[in-house]
Amino acid sequence: MKIADTGCALREILKTAPRPCVLVPTMGAFHPGHISLMLRAREIAGPLGTVIVSIFVNPIQFDRAADLAAYPRPMESDLAACEAQGVDIAFAPDASSMYFPDRSITVTENLLSRGLCGATRHGHFDGVCTVVLKLFLLSGCEVAVFGEKDFQQLAIIRRMVRDLDLPVEIDSCPTVREPDGLAMSSRNTRLSPEQRADAPRIRQALLAAATLASVEEILISARAAIEFSPFARVDYLSLVDAESLQAISCMERPAILATAVFYGDVRLIDHVALSPLGSASA
Ligand code: AMP
Repeated sequence: MKIADTGCALREILKTAPRPCVLVPTMGAFHPGHISLMLRAREIAGPLGTVIVSIFVNPIQFDRAADLAAYPRPMESDLAACEAQGVDIAFAPDASSMYFPDRSITVTENLLSRGLCGATRHGHFDGVCTVVLKLFLLSGCEVAVFGEKDFQQLAIIRRMVRDLDLPVEIDSCPTVREPDGLAMSSRNTRLSPEQRADAPRIRQALLAAATLASVEEILISARAAIEFSPFARVDYLSLVDAESLQAISCMERPAILATAVFYGDVRLIDHVALSPLGSASA
């Protein structure tokens, strides 16, 4: 496995890399969710193609300095995990090599990022789009693989590719969960034992509410089930159209019931997909 720590080094390595190139953008601190994306990338690239995993804790997508400072960065074990998965190139740049101190150009998304996580995390998705565009340009990848866990991010990246005519195909993988249903996340390790034991209620609340008939019942029931916890504080709970991500008032089209929940200062997200007939998936 080759390791590049600057964009120039990555481009140099890529001069002789076999195509196709499949990119998995990450912020590191790998768990089985990330590994599933690497496996999918290899499936797409084939045995002879090139799988690139980027490991970069992107400062411009954090709205809270404490969250950025607390983000885990186990670089050695991450590189070992890439190696073990047969990744061809790990791209692990410093923030100083990705961003000029006087950088003044940013990608802005103006619709899908207004609600859900974007409502309280100002500038987050602009930071995500900016770094993902840079990673697409630096890697020249034909395909990039993202997790469905971050479904708003996935929808926004697909929109960016569409609106900016980017020559990259976006592929996605289902959310990988702990045996008790909690969506795997690098942030789970920051939960206290009591918070960790309580956190599967998020998924249970969403699944139970998804069986109800009306939008109002769904929202009231899910919120009550989450807030019954002495540890959990709902940041948002929304039922949105699966495509436009805009809030809905009746169940006529595929929808997503999504939430972000604070356990102390740890923010966890999860969602379920709902069909108009009332069944939940994902
Ligand atoms: P992150 O490093 O957390 O920014 O995530 C990097 C990629 O891994 C994103 O495309 C995420 O959606 C994906 N990812 C994170 N957690 C999971 C999970 N539990 N299952 C599947 N994909 C995930």
